[in-house]
Amino acid sequence: MRPGDNLGAVIRQFLPALLKEKGVSKHQLKVLRALSVCRTPELGGSAMVCGDCGSVHYVLHSCRNRHCPRCQGIDKELWVEARKQELLPVKYFHVVFTVPHQLLELFRFNRKLMYNLLIEKSWETLCLFSNDPKLLGAKPGAIAILHTWDQQLRFHPHVHLIVPAGGIDKNNQWKNSKQDGNFLFDVKQMSAVFSARFAKKLRRLKRQGKIKKQVPRDLIIKPWVVYAKMAFGSAESVVEYLGRYTHRVAISNARILKVTHTHVTFSWCDRKNGYQKKIETITGVTFLKRFLEHIVPPCFRRIRHLGFLSSPNKKQSLLAIRKSLGEKPIQTRPLSRVQVLELRFGQRSLLKCRDCGGELQLLENYPKERAPPVNVLSGIC
Ligand SMILES: [Zn+2]
Ligand SMILES: [Zn+2]
Ligand SMILES: [Zn+2]
Repeated sequence: MRPGDNLGAVIRQFLPALLKEKGVSKHQLKVLRALSVCRTPELGGSAMVCGDCGSVHYVLHSCRNRHCPRCQGIDKELWVEARKQELLPVKYFHVVFTVPHQLLELFRFNRKLMYNLLIEKSWETLCLFSNDPKLLGAKPGAIAILHTWDQQLRFHPHVHLIVPAGGIDKNNQWKNSKQDGNFLFDVKQMSAVFSARFAKKLRRLKRQGKIKKQVPRDLIIKPWVVYAKMAFGSAESVVEYLGRYTHRVAISNARILKVTHTHVTFSWCDRKNGYQKKIETITGVTFLKRFLEHIVPPCFRRIRHLGFLSSPNKKQSLLAIRKSLGEKPIQTRPLSRVQVLELRFGQRSLLKCRDCGGELQLLENYPKERAPPVNVLSGIC
C-alpha cells in the first residue's frame, strides 16, 4: 500500500463518477463525504502543546464515522476494555448465521427490516435450543454483530454471535452446555429451525405489506449455512477475538493496495481455498458501488447485547453467574479513553509528546475552514 492509497482517497477520486452512474441516498452520501475528508485539512485540526518540553504538535481531526476504517481503532479498544469486565470463566462459542443468495435482492430493498429479521431469528434459534431442557434448559446470553460483506466486498449479510457456552437456569445457577461446555448445539438442527422461522416471519411481513419486492417461492432449497465453533483459548483472547469482529468495517485501508486513475486493487483472503491471499482489481466506481452496500441504515444497531448480557439484566446476571461459579465479582473499574489510548498506543498516542513523552494539552482548535498550519502526520483519536 502506498501512502495515500486508502478508502478516503478512493472516495475522493471516484465519487463524482459514481454519482453520474448511480443514485445514492442522502445518508449514503453523508457517510461517503465524512470518510473522504477524514484526517484531511478539510475537517480542521488541533494544535497541542507539550507540558514538559513545550514543543507544539499538530493533528488533523478524524471523522469518527462508524463506517470509517481509520476511526474504528480506538472505538474497538474502548469496547474491548469494557467487555473485559463482563467475561465469564466459561467456554465461548462463535456462531454464524447466513442467508442464501436468492434473498439478497430483498435485503437490498428492505435493509433495516431484513437486517433486524436476520438478527432476531438467529437469536430466537439460539434461545429455543438453550431453553430446551433436553439440550440445555437455561437462559442464554450473546453478543450479536451484523456483517454485510464477504472478503471481496460483495453483499453477504450474516450475523456473528459470540455465545458463552451455557446459561442461567431457573435457580439462578450457571449451567454449562453439553460435554462440560465443549459442545453447543447441532448446527444442522439450528439451520433447519433458523431457516424455517425466518421464512415464516418473512412471508408474514409480506402479507402485512411491509416488504418491498417479491418473496422467492422456494426459500429453503438447501440448508442455510450455520456455523459454530468453540473459538477461544483464555478469557482474555475471547475479547480480543470479539474485537476483531465487532468493529470491523467492510475493508481496511491496509487491504487497498493501489489506486490508479481508473482502478482500485485490493487484497482478499480466499477462505474456500485454504485462506489463500488473493488480489483483485476493479474499476473505482465498481469498488464504490460495492462499498455502498455496506453502509447500514441511520441509527441501526449493528452490535447487540442479548439475553443475560442485555443492559437491563447484565449487571445482576453476571453477579449471579459469578457467584454460582464460586468466582469473586470483578472489582476493577473500566479504563478511561485516555488510559486505553496510552495502554495501546503508548508514545504514538496523541496525548503524549512525540519528542519527550510528556503530556500534551490542547492549545488551539482549527476550524474546518482553517486547517493546521503544517502538513502534519495524523494521530490516533
Ligand atoms: Zn515534549
Ligand atoms: Zn474517519
Ligand atoms: Zn463476518
